[in-house]
Amino acid sequence: MGNQPMIVLSDDSQRTSGKDAQSMNITAGKAVSESVRTTLGPKGMDKMLVDSTGNVVVTNDGVTILKEMEIEHPAANMIVEVAETQESEVGDGTTTAVVVAGELLKKAEDQLDQEIHATTLAQGYRQAAEKAKEALEGIAIDVEESDTEILENIAATAMTGKGAENARDHLASLVVQAVRSVADEDGIDTDNIKVEDVVGGAIEESELVEGVIVSKERVHDDMPYAVEDANVAVLDDALEVRETEIDAEVNVTDPDQLQEFLDQEEEQLKEMVDELAEAGADVVFAQDGIDDMAQHFLAQEGILAARRVKSSDAGKLARATGANVVSNVSDVEADDLGFAGSVAQKDVGGDQQLFVEDVDEAKSVTLILRGGTEHVVDEVERAIEDALGVVRTTLEDGKVVPGGGAPEIAVGLALQDFADSVGGREQIAVEAFAEALDVIPRTLAENAGLDPIDSIVELRSEHADGDSNAGLDAYTGDVTDLSEDGVVEPLRVKTQAIESATEAAVMILRIDDVIAAGDLKGGQTGDDDEGGPGGPGGAPGGMGGGMGGMGGMGGMGGAM
Ligand code: ADP
Ligand code: MG
Repeated sequence: MGNQPMIVLSDDSQRTSGKDAQSMNITAGKAVSESVRTTLGPKGMDKMLVDSTGNVVVTNDGVTILKEMEIEHPAANMIVEVAETQESEVGDGTTTAVVVAGELLKKAEDQLDQEIHATTLAQGYRQAAEKAKEALEGIAIDVEESDTEILENIAATAMTGKGAENARDHLASLVVQAVRSVADEDGIDTDNIKVEDVVGGAIEESELVEGVIVSKERVHDDMPYAVEDANVAVLDDALEVRETEIDAEVNVTDPDQLQEFLDQEEEQLKEMVDELAEAGADVVFAQDGIDDMAQHFLAQEGILAARRVKSSDAGKLARATGANVVSNVSDVEADDLGFAGSVAQKDVGGDQQLFVEDVDEAKSVTLILRGGTEHVVDEVERAIEDALGVVRTTLEDGKVVPGGGAPEIAVGLALQDFADSVGGREQIAVEAFAEALDVIPRTLAENAGLDPIDSIVELRSEHADGDSNAGLDAYTGDVTDLSEDGVVEPLRVKTQAIESATEAAVMILRIDDVIAAGDLKGGQTGDDDEGGPGGPGGAPGGMGGGMGGMGGMGGMGGAM
């Protein structure tokens, strides 16, 4: 009886325990991190990702790469979540966070091999992360809200290496203006900044419209193209007669009756339009449809109207013009209307769009982003999203750190000191954590074609001499205080990266049993049905090479 195994799991389930489970998860986590490493920093390279439908994305953005890869391995996904958290909390630093997480796992693997218990490691990592955040606060530089130059520098740093090099300063200034415009007493919601992509023209021609642009045309040809000093109605309603509002069953026995029925419907539409005209509306944005007959009446009144406006746009319109969104057209009153100095239909890159401008306080703005091709515009948009995030974060926190790996080196040294006071086996974990942070300057050096060891040695010695701002200039290879050249990042980029990376690494380390109900495939989408570990769905060769790191995961999945 003694050694008889008791079977409690179904036949389909797979179980991996102990060291195997640990090393499988660590390998998966490291592979994810490895896959984005080469994109880090101003000289990082881009990746071309092709999804199963043949869609192509060219990007340098950590979180975008990981999302596009459609990673399925559960441990690998925990690392992807690190990037997602970083994206939503700060907007930038996604690659950094993932690379640090991967390095924490790698260092942990060495420690586990030396029989250090995973719980001890986890404990040590947590302590180190706390201390690291304190050390970061210590080296942070205060920023005034009114300091436009430094805010623009922060925006520009976030866009470095992301395909917007030529127009970086121009875009940085638009980004700062945009964030400032939407800031109000409730804080800063960058959702009120709409980025409108236009293919055609140069990136330098991008502009900021202080107001809202709605991708709609006026509904009727007889309506005006433009209205000045417009009273704007925003409706969450249709200008149509709903079926339920008239008799559901109409038995037409003679032609007069039909006419009467149609007249009745027309009358109702006319009333709706009169309601709007009486309230004083010059422009109407309806979230639902507008009946042909109603369009005609609106045109007669000289009202410019658009229908099927997205609810997010309606919200922005209301915010910008000061209108109340009215859910029933018959309730519209004069004070529900908002105001815009100008509402006009304009051609943007071949599409007709309605510009609502000259609003009192543009609490929502639109950034018109131009670029030569769709892929260029898409990547610049991602760069802009990062820049919006860092400017918002800086205005909220008022603290920045110099770039180029300076904070990582400074924190690493602080942690080495701290490790001595920890003692015991956890000391080893804290030291491992300290060394793991070197991965950022090391990778910046590698990606810039510099010797990583020389760079780290020089950085450490500058820091030891008291220059805690010394970072690696990826363009010149010099070790200098990059904050003097305007390379600065919000403190929160670093604290959040350390926090999420530690959480994920600790979570992965503490797992010693993986029980999967079904077939647990490693790596990315459908390794087996699409053949070859190179990449998803018939990806061209370039991608297999570009994501070599993932190959290991495919193999690992097969071994399970
Ligand atoms: P992430 O997704 O982590 O933001 P990036 O590719 O944007 O990744 O790279 C960010 C890193 O590049 C930061 O560590 C930042 O300090 C560094 N960096 C930015 N500009 C420079 C520069 N001119 N020289 C050296 N490092 C830089
Ligand atoms: Mg960045």
